[in-house]
Order: sequence, then structure tokens, then C-alpha cells
Amino acid sequence: MSYVDKIIADVEKKNADQPEFLQAAKEVLESLRVVVDNDKRYEDAGLLERLVEPERIIQFRVPWVDDSGKVQVNRGYRVQFNSAIGPYKGGLRFHPSVNLSIIKFLGFEQIFKNSLTGLPIGGGKGGSDFDPKGKSENEVMRFCQSFMTELSKHIGADTDVPAGDIGVGGREIGYMYGQYKRLKNEFVGVLTGKGLEWGGSLTRTEATGYGLVYMVNEYFKSVGDSFAGKTVAVSGSGNVAIFATQKVQQLGGKVVTLTDSTGYIYHEAGIDLDTVKEIKLVKRGRLSEYKAAHSDAVYKETGDGSVWDIKVDVALPCATQNELDLNNAKALVANGVKVVGEGANMPSTLDAADYFIANNVVFFPGKASNAGGVGVSALEMSQNSQRLAWTFEEVDAKLQQMMANIFKNSDAAAKEYGKDGNFIVGANVAGFKKVAQAMLDQGII
Ligand code: NDP
Repeated sequence: MSYVDKIIADVEKKNADQPEFLQAAKEVLESLRVVVDNDKRYEDAGLLERLVEPERIIQFRVPWVDDSGKVQVNRGYRVQFNSAIGPYKGGLRFHPSVNLSIIKFLGFEQIFKNSLTGLPIGGGKGGSDFDPKGKSENEVMRFCQSFMTELSKHIGADTDVPAGDIGVGGREIGYMYGQYKRLKNEFVGVLTGKGLEWGGSLTRTEATGYGLVYMVNEYFKSVGDSFAGKTVAVSGSGNVAIFATQKVQQLGGKVVTLTDSTGYIYHEAGIDLDTVKEIKLVKRGRLSEYKAAHSDAVYKETGDGSVWDIKVDVALPCATQNELDLNNAKALVANGVKVVGEGANMPSTLDAADYFIANNVVFFPGKASNAGGVGVSALEMSQNSQRLAWTFEEVDAKLQQMMANIFKNSDAAAKEYGKDGNFIVGANVAGFKKVAQAMLDQGII
């Protein structure tokens, strides 16, 4: 049995109840065969055994009092997965679906993504099964304060620096930062995605969506093409989806779809982003409200068809894990899709991703194409350490360079191992090699 097969069998046995983590681990391990099965150093150092086991898992109670005076209890998590190349770094997700499997999958992906950015950041992730939807402002604040009261014991500007993710935006980061400062009496860069008046970085809000589009654009440039005139399907309507849409529009493409957890809109004339921002960022409402402003748009509830049935040149899934399955992949390919770039983390199922590659669709896995968010978070950490604030243009230029490097390095790694054009293998291998070298250098820890 090869080293990789042995590790996959071990991971399956130990984590049988964690499907999302298994999916993420298997995808990475499969693509590392080309590296680790030909180099005994990795097996001798037990490197993969250590890589798939988090350095630390923290699980805690988050008690808070709702507006009616009733005590509520949620579950909080922080998985500190790997610190070989820097302090743990990765977002916090507040969503009712959150469990240990989801946080472990996200933390594991983060190791390779963070390595790909070229910046010194390790992998971690956290969150809670708290649902911010329908909660009052005061309830969200009380929850965030309680969550941070425990989390503050385990993080620090040089130890672990969380950021946002699904359900955690500027508002939640603000409440958590305030509580951290109050508990520790320190004004330090312990969270990223902060407000611009108190240590945040310009471009951080836009970074993940912009970075995704920069990455796809690097591919277009490499083949003498561009976004101009392309029709694009985007899913989600949160932070990543909104700013991916904005950048596609700036580059001359036409985004025709967006989704939320209750339905999707198809607007053949092109999405009006101002309307979406008003609904989602200001009113915190539902996409169904879009039709009131645009009667020529189609709104359908989840389950009534799919955004992936629409004929497009480029698909950018930006909502959540496993939102694009094999049937969706077949529909996209049948309609002639050229490029799929993942803005969300693991939005495509394993068989969907394989189908794209088998059918010569250029496919960018999230750990490469959505790395701009954490990359600019690391730039926020640098600015905080220096007590400086860079301009939008400076940070945006660094983001573009970072995405160009990730494209180049993933492409080169795929070619080096005989998998030309396979960005899953390229990104996993390029991300892995740096972390693995650091782990080898640092001994058996
Ligand atoms: P937001 O909370 O801002 O938006 C999430 C969007 O996805 C919303 O439109 C939400 O719908 C929809 N959504 C969430 N969960 C589900 C679900 N289970 N089924 C259907 N739709 C769902 O999150 P982000 O935009 O920040 O994150 C989106 C994805 O991008 C996630 O996978 C995240 O891990 C990834 N990501 C985010 C980064 C960032 O910087 N924010 C960085 C890298 C990756 P609704 O409005 O109904 O809740």
C-alpha cells in the first residue's frame, strides 16, 4: 500500500463522522501522490500523519441572553491546524450548519491557501452554530462579546489572527474586536477585516471577490483573451459574490445570476449591483426583493431549477461548500462553459471538479482562487505591526501581484509533475511543498 493510500485509510477510520473534512483531505492527499510517493523523506518524518491532525482543537460554550431575557447557548470552535509557516490565520463562520467537520475542512484548506499567498501565515478556522439571521443588533453584539470572551484566551497578534467568513462581516468583527480590547487592554492586530478607522486595510472588503476575478483574468491574459463580452454566472450574494460581480463588470463582463439561501435571480440584461448592495448590505434582506426594482429579472426559489443551468462562459460559485454537484457540472459543460473559478471554499463536489477537468474546462480550486482575502488580511497584519495604512491602490496592486503569482506557481507545479492545466494538483502541490519543508526543518513536533 502506498504512503498516500495508508494515510487516506487512517483518515477515513479516524474521522468517519466528518464528511466535509474527509472530502477536503482526500482531494489534497490524492493530488500529493506525485510528490510524496516518490520521496521517502516525507514518510520517514511522518509528515502526512501530522499534516492531517490539527495542532489543537478548542471547543467551547457560548452563553448569551436574547432580547426576551431567555438564556441561549451556542457552540464555539477554533481549530488551530498548522503553524509551520506562521501564526494560525483563517476566518470565523457563524451559520447554523457549523460543526467540527466543517471547521476542520476549512482549517485544512487554509493551510495550503495561506502558503500559496507567499506570506508567513499558518492555517486555522473557527466559528459557531449561531445564526445571525433574524437577530437584533443587540443580540448579535451580546453573542459576539460572549464568543470573544472565551476565544480571547487562545488567540493573539502573533499566535492566531481570525477574520470573517459566512455570517461574520465588519459588524461582527467590530463587536469581537471591542471585546478583545476590553479584556486584554491591548490595541493590536488580533483580528482582520477591521473598520478603516481602527486598523482595517483598504481593499480587504473587496479582496476575495476581486482576487478571484484577477486569477481568472490571469488565465485569460495567458491565452490572449479577456472578460470583455463574457457572460458570467455567480452564486451567493454576500461579500465574495458582490465584489466578484463588481470586478467582472469593471473588466467588461456581464454577470447574469446571483443566489442566496432561499433562491436565485437571473437577469439577462446584467445584474444591477447597486440594487443588490442595498438589499444585502444595507437592509440585510432577501434576493427575492430584487424583482421589485427590475421586473425583467427572473426570481426562482431554491430547488426550482439551478443557476448552473444557465448558458454562460464563466461560472464563479461564491456561496458555500458543495453547492455545485456533478449534474450541475454536466449542465454547465453541455452549455459550453470555458472557465470555473471557485470563490467559496470547496463549492464543487469532488466528482464535479473531476468532470470539469476531464472535459477541458479550466478549473480553479478555491484554495488558489479565493486566496486574495486571506492574502490582504496578511497585509492588514503587516500594516498593523508597522502602525501604517497603505492606500487602496497600493494594496490592490499587491493583491493583483499575489493572484498572478498564485496562478504562475500553480501552473508551474502542475507542469512539473506532468499534470499540465490541472490547477487542483498545481495548487495543492505548490501550497504543500512550502509547508512540508518548514515541518521537516522544525523537527517532529
Ligand atoms: P457571506 O455570509 O457574506 O455570504 C454568503 C452567501 O452565500 C450569502 O448569499 C448566503 O445566503 C449564501 N449561503 C451561505 N450558506 C448557504 C447555504 N448553506 N446554502 C445556500 N446559500 C448559502 O459569506 P462570504 O461571501 O464571506 O463567503 C462565501 C464563501 O466564500 C464561503 O465559502 C467562504 O468560506 C468563502 N470565502 C470567504 C472569504 C472572505 O473573505 N469573506 C475568503 C475566502 C473564502 P443568505 O444571504 O441567504 O445567507
